[in-house]
Amino acid sequence: MPLTKIVSLAVLCCLTAGCSTGPGSYPSGQWIDLSYDFSPETIYWPTAEPFQLDTVSAGMTEKGYYYSAYKFCAAEHGGTHADAPIHFASGGKTIDQIPLTKLIAPAAKIDVSQKAMADRDYQISVEDFKAWESQYGKIPERSIVLLQTGYGQYWPDRLKYLGTDKRGAEGVAELHFPGLHPEAAKWLVSSRRINAIGIDTASIDYGQSQLFDSHTALMGQSTPVFENVANLDKVPTVGAQVIALPMKIKGGSGAPLRIIAFIPDGAR
Ligand SMILES: [Zn+2]
Repeated sequence: MPLTKIVSLAVLCCLTAGCSTGPGSYPSGQWIDLSYDFSPETIYWPTAEPFQLDTVSAGMTEKGYYYSAYKFCAAEHGGTHADAPIHFASGGKTIDQIPLTKLIAPAAKIDVSQKAMADRDYQISVEDFKAWESQYGKIPERSIVLLQTGYGQYWPDRLKYLGTDKRGAEGVAELHFPGLHPEAAKWLVSSRRINAIGIDTASIDYGQSQLFDSHTALMGQSTPVFENVANLDKVPTVGAQVIALPMKIKGGSGAPLRIIAFIPDGAR
């Protein structure tokens, strides 16, 4: 068994069994935050309201202690977030129903940034996956596939990231960013058994999509999607472990997502 696999199993056993001794018992490595913070600058779909944080209290109380508390208002599908199957599949699982075993898994990163940076409307193809597999082997079962287009470097510049800084329907019409080709989405769910898929753009379907066929293909097969994933340039091609925990909104079609990666020393 290769060393990376042993390390992966050790981390997974640790994660699933629950380590009584805490993070100190992980193999040595690095934790990477794959979530953006939520603020008024956070990128939401052109038709959605921005993230809102209001102060309920902030300051010294009459009794002499400091107290701060805020309330927030946010669309499910903005910033770093997860799409639940029900987002595009009637009767699909809601965000609170997605099993943890789908959300904690080894990563397989596909870097298409060279092609995608040269073409804002690039759609990641079956050939891209086959080229990856010819180098790294078949995408392992139960992987979380991470698609790196390179557009994360533009965050939070709406114009560069989305292709437009216009709001409303006018903004939607002018979205230009890369995504996953529907044929590749269908291939992934029919020929590979992945746990989930994430991308460093605002949607798994490319900006000019009209029918969101990649969403439909993935969610029709109960595959959660993570969007606006940060820092994919810091994730190795293979060997990382991903933990993706969306806010547990009962009945939600999606939710803000805290997603992190553990990169054992020696991962590529
Ligand atoms: Zn979404």
